[in-house]
This record gives sequence, C-alpha cells and structure tokens, in this order.
Amino acid sequence: MGKLSYGCDLLEELTKISIERGIKLGRIEAIGAVQKARVGFYNQETRIYEFHSFDRPLEITKLAGNISGKEGNPFVHAHITLSDESGKSYGGHLASGTVVFACEFLLDAFDGPAFDRRFDEETGLPLWSILK
Ligand code: ZN
Repeated sequence: MGKLSYGCDLLEELTKISIERGIKLGRIEAIGAVQKARVGFYNQETRIYEFHSFDRPLEITKLAGNISGKEGNPFVHAHITLSDESGKSYGGHLASGTVVFACEFLLDAFDGPAFDRRFDEETGLPLWSILK
C-alpha cells in the first residue's frame, strides 16, 4: 500500500514503482483525485488509440490494473474511472499525462511464470502470450 506524491504522473509513477521493486506480475488498485487526466479509447476499426484529455480536477473513483512483462520490463496496464463535481463519470485506458492530486494505491505482487506481451494479430494490441 502506498501514497503517490502530489503532481506526479500517475501511470509513470506506478511503472517506476514496479521497476524499482522488481515486480513482474501484479495487480494494482487505486483511489484518489487527479489535477488533470488523459485516457485512451482503442478504436477497433482503425486499431489506433484515441486519447481524450480532461484538463480539470476529477476524482479517481476506481483504477484497476495489472503488471506484466513487455520487452523484458515491468509494464503497467491500467484502466481508470473518474468523476466530476456533478458525479458524471469518464474513463478509459490510463495514459501518461494524468497528474496526481492525491492517490492511495494497493499493489499485490505475484510469483509465477512471466506473462509477456506480444503483438496480437486479431486485435492489433500487445496482449499476453500465455495460453487461454
Ligand atoms: Zn487498456
């Protein structure tokens, strides 16, 4: 469990923690608030991420993510749901550019064989190469 510092980049900080602690498999959960956010939506037709920026304070109502391997390094994949002052929610694939106001996270590290990401022809995404 931990607290992220004011002003840090949410995704980059979670990645940094995973690398520093040598966590290759894990689960991440977080709540808190951001000063601004950037999230992605994967367009299944074009196979390109479309990014949306919210340049205002929002609550983190839920961040759920995992840690696996990509090109030999710990890789954090997280999705986030955010809410505004009226309670309206937004969400998507967490991207760099999401700046922490306050954030409490839980990180579970797992033992076991590596889950590595490889390019998946069907989706165009870097998915786990393990069996179903
Ligand atoms: Zn995603």
